Amino acid sequence: MRGCLSRPNLRQISSSIGLSRYTSEQCPNIAPEVPSQEKLTMPACTHADSIQGVTPSAQGCEECLAMGDRWVHLRICQSCGHVGCCDSSKNKHATKHFRATAHPIVKSFERGEDWRWCYVDQTFV
Ligand SMILES: [Zn+2]
Ligand SMILES: [Zn+2]
Ligand SMILES: [Zn+2]
Repeated sequence: MRGCLSRPNLRQISSSIGLSRYTSEQCPNIAPEVPSQEKLTMPACTHADSIQGVTPSAQGCEECLAMGDRWVHLRICQSCGHVGCCDSSKNKHATKHFRATAHPIVKSFERGEDWRWCYVDQTFV
């Protein structure tokens, strides 16, 4: 409702000139305001072209499997297919892979999850 200043004015106009249908019309200011505010709060990711049709390098975290260690959740690198463990896991191999390679985007490798994360922009892609 913020920024909608026309409703009281319209009601005044309609009662004075007898056009009552204008009182039920939507405020025309609402629609253009919402997208411009979202752009300010949501930084856009510029790395979408680094997303490749990758093949998973393993069915678990590569490094944890090699160490015989465990992980919590898995992330798959969208540049090379490296599978690494998330930041809830003690080894954080997905983040270490980003630091080592600068591959910006990982996708969840968890069943039922479908989101991507850009490490550079710190935003969902
Ligand atoms: Zn990005
Ligand atoms: Zn790991
Ligand atoms: Zn990678």
